[in-house]
Amino acid sequence: MSDVIVIGGGLAGCATAYYLAADGVDVTLLERTDLNTLASGSNAGSLHAQIPHDPFVTNGEAWAEVFSPTIGLLARSIEMWRGLPALLGVDLEIGLKGGLLVAPNEAQMRDIERKAAFERAQGLRIDILDRPALRALAPYLSDHIVGGAFCPDEGKANPFAVAPAFAAAAERLGATILRHTPVQAIVRTGDGFEVSTPRGVLKAKRVVDAAGADAARIAAMAGIELADVQGFPIQASATEQVGPLVPHLVYYTGEKLTLKQNGVGTLLIGGGWPARLGRHGNPVANPDSLARNLAVAVSVVPALAKVKIVRTWAAIVNGTSDWKPILGEIPAVPGFFVNFFPWMGFTAGPISARIVASLVQGRQPPLDVDLSPFLPKG
Ligand SMILES: Cc1cc2nc3c(=O)[nH]c(=O)nc-3n(C[C@H](O)[C@H](O)[C@H](O)COP(=O)(O)OP(=O)(O)OC[C@H]3O[C@@H](n4cnc5c(N)ncnc54)[C@H](O)[C@@H]3O)c2cc1C
Repeated sequence: MSDVIVIGGGLAGCATAYYLAADGVDVTLLERTDLNTLASGSNAGSLHAQIPHDPFVTNGEAWAEVFSPTIGLLARSIEMWRGLPALLGVDLEIGLKGGLLVAPNEAQMRDIERKAAFERAQGLRIDILDRPALRALAPYLSDHIVGGAFCPDEGKANPFAVAPAFAAAAERLGATILRHTPVQAIVRTGDGFEVSTPRGVLKAKRVVDAAGADAARIAAMAGIELADVQGFPIQASATEQVGPLVPHLVYYTGEKLTLKQNGVGTLLIGGGWPARLGRHGNPVANPDSLARNLAVAVSVVPALAKVKIVRTWAAIVNGTSDWKPILGEIPAVPGFFVNFFPWMGFTAGPISARIVASLVQGRQPPLDVDLSPFLPKG
């Protein structure tokens, strides 16, 4: 019997296994296919700290009030990212030159300012920039942009690198990682859980559900309903490698956009544009979304018109309608923990895992964070 079984080999699961192993806990991670093959290895690599603009405008200030503590978590996670290369011994290609949310008109500048009030209340630094200040910071932006907000702590990292680095470090510390081991059933026993896989039944005192978009399906195996936890097909694109063009993480208030340039010169263009589901339920890129995503990107950074797209891909992002994370033990099923961070789980991977690994051990995490907004209810 292991102390803990972690289900899911994305960033949430690999990082949770790492922090547990680092604390001396006997942990086994079960991954259905191979590590980092779904959202954690297919995302756009943005490190976000600010409130996403789209849901702010759609859901309004009452939603922002409730969501706000989550951005404190994201900012703390980015602080942890800074220390990960030394902790894990791997170059994660982290660049933190700041995020710029830019607007095409004064009405949308007012939205940015209203959003900034919530962000500043959480301790985030947000500088509102008028047209001349923005031009000085980001001369690559189109002339139609009237201003924006600069958040100096945001940036990017390499999604191919981090979950495998956590997994390798966890294995060095004694964690067992079983790839190609899908969880098929979970039975509660007197002293823990029996987890069925094609390799046989594994037993553990505690279970961590880190299955991303499949988290509700895993929870249901233990009789738990994770309402509103879903998967959504979205897509992103990568360009050919070009010289330095865009040092920041750029967002746009006009339409969905995230844009950044990685260390080898590839520009990554996304923002959550919808993909389609293919015949077998697999995510497939949607040409209409691609066309619109690129048109928005070129309208914000005109120099992109000369840069070729070399790859567009689709993947399932784990989401909820309220955007709030679920981190901790299910009250009705003691010993069953969830590590689920919707929409921005790449950024939040380190802190979510540190929190859940501590809670699994019955301890408070070594972080000055109020966990009450994130604990599972019911
Ligand atoms: C295109 C795209 C762009 C994104 N861009 C960003 C971004 O720029 N910044 C950001 O912060 N976030 C971004 N995200 C979101 C982020 O990638 C996810 O929130 C995060 O990676 C979720 O990590 P996870 O480990 O919870 O889930 P996943 O990475 O999906 O891992 C879950 C794992 O559980 C496994 N699993 C499922 N069922 C079982 C089972 N029965 N048995 C065993 N294993 C099982 C799966 O095989 C999978 O490996 C993006 C997502 C997508 C799709």
